[in-house]
Amino acid sequence: MDAQNVVALAYLVAALFFINALRGLSKHETAQSGNTSGVIGMAIALIATVWLALDSDPARGIAATLILILLAIAIGAVIGLRLAKKVGMTEMPELIALLHSFVGLAAVLVGYNTFLTSVGGSGSYHTFLMGEIFLGVFIGSVTFTGSIIAYLKLSAKMKSKALLLPGRNWLNLLAIIVSVGLMAWFMNTNTTGAGLIPLLLMTIISLLLGLHLVAAIGGGDMPVVVSMLNSYSGWAAAAAGFMLENDLLIITGALVGSSGAFLSYIMCKAMNRSFISVILGGFGATTSSGEARDYGTHTETTASQVAQLLAEAKKVVITPGYGMAVAQAQYPVADLTKRLIDSGVDVTFGIHPVAGRLPGHMNVLLAEAKVAYDIVHELDEINDEFSDVDVVLVIGANDTVNPAAEEPGSPIEGMPVLRVWEAKNVVVFKRSMGNAGYAGVENPLFFEDNTDMLLGDAKASVDAINTELSVTAK
Ligand code: NDP
Repeated sequence: MDAQNVVALAYLVAALFFINALRGLSKHETAQSGNTSGVIGMAIALIATVWLALDSDPARGIAATLILILLAIAIGAVIGLRLAKKVGMTEMPELIALLHSFVGLAAVLVGYNTFLTSVGGSGSYHTFLMGEIFLGVFIGSVTFTGSIIAYLKLSAKMKSKALLLPGRNWLNLLAIIVSVGLMAWFMNTNTTGAGLIPLLLMTIISLLLGLHLVAAIGGGDMPVVVSMLNSYSGWAAAAAGFMLENDLLIITGALVGSSGAFLSYIMCKAMNRSFISVILGGFGATTSSGEARDYGTHTETTASQVAQLLAEAKKVVITPGYGMAVAQAQYPVADLTKRLIDSGVDVTFGIHPVAGRLPGHMNVLLAEAKVAYDIVHELDEINDEFSDVDVVLVIGANDTVNPAAEEPGSPIEGMPVLRVWEAKNVVVFKRSMGNAGYAGVENPLFFEDNTDMLLGDAKASVDAINTELSVTAK
């Protein structure tokens, strides 16, 4: 068997490991084995790719190829290790958005390289190749600029509010129609000079389209955009795979593309949004009245008062959000949970699908702190139970527990939220009254009669409650 066949077989085996990885990652219980499967698949793919590279250009010599590969690995490893050490869990979404932009850029570069090295051919295969190049560059460019805007919004380097140009949907439609025309022109050219003009024009249009599509999406809808760009980056990688005739890149690209599209669909359902309207943007842009509303005054509480409330409670629900991740409060929260359960309190968690800054963010943090899976419930499972709950602890959540979502005209109108205000007592953990949640919308929950604010860092506050409870237990 020659090297090409061995590599093709290795790619197939790697692809099976990747599919198994995705299957494993779909459940808490199998996530670790899913991850291991992914690592094995990637190791097989890497070895096979290096082997293929060593075999593909005998003229350059094995030593020179090896040096080039090792150099590329070393550069990647230095950047990767630096990032992994520096990036906190709360910065993961922006890092992922930035990495998606690299995938987009790679597809654009591969597209241009394939065009410059294969132009001048003829026949249906060549026409097909030109179509692949055009689509690869188009998807890659949209992914590239779209991901950069997502990165800027997620890292708060740019306002998360939607940018609404007049006639924005018509602008998007025009960009697509012009690109289809340019594609027809491009596929009928057979010299570098003639083909380069439509390719360059389309690249400029698609770069602007990516920028506009994501800029038009407002704060609360960013989770859908992140998973959608994840999907685009998969299709961009698959397009690069076609151009490079690399089966594994086609398979993995398609896996990422389709799983990202499915995740976007699930998140749209969770947010009560239509997929198309999120893609076209505009959500998160309206304001209910244009003026700041007076919700009255809030009431503040102390750790010892909360400990007292908890000691008397029979049923407690904890609804964590982004602030728990910022404070790294999951460990004291797990201690508090154990302490309450041991003293006979019924404690459960209510997890909103877009709590935090990553799909599954809260589940990961709670799993890390060894909170049992069976007391962690999703929004649908818990939302009808709040009226029976004595105390809800809202730990660093804001948009996901905002009753404004039920008001017509609110920027987050229609988004399902955890109806914590129906409980007898609500304690909100946040650092100050000054900051709004991610979507930038005021939260009337904080001013309800049954809500008390425990201001301060969530970890310090939960630690203080634990200390109070351990003192009273003695
Ligand atoms: P929000 O981002 O709405 O609010 C976070 C809250 O945590 C704020 O009230 C903040 O108030 C508080 N907080 C921050 N740091 C601390 C700290 N150290 N201690 C205590 N409190 C703290 O959180 P949610 O989880 O409710 O909502 C997530 C939002 O993010 C949604 O709008 C969602 O659409 C969006 N999003 C989600 C993504 C996902 O995939 N899950 C991806 C991108 C966006 P203060 O600053 O005063 O402390």
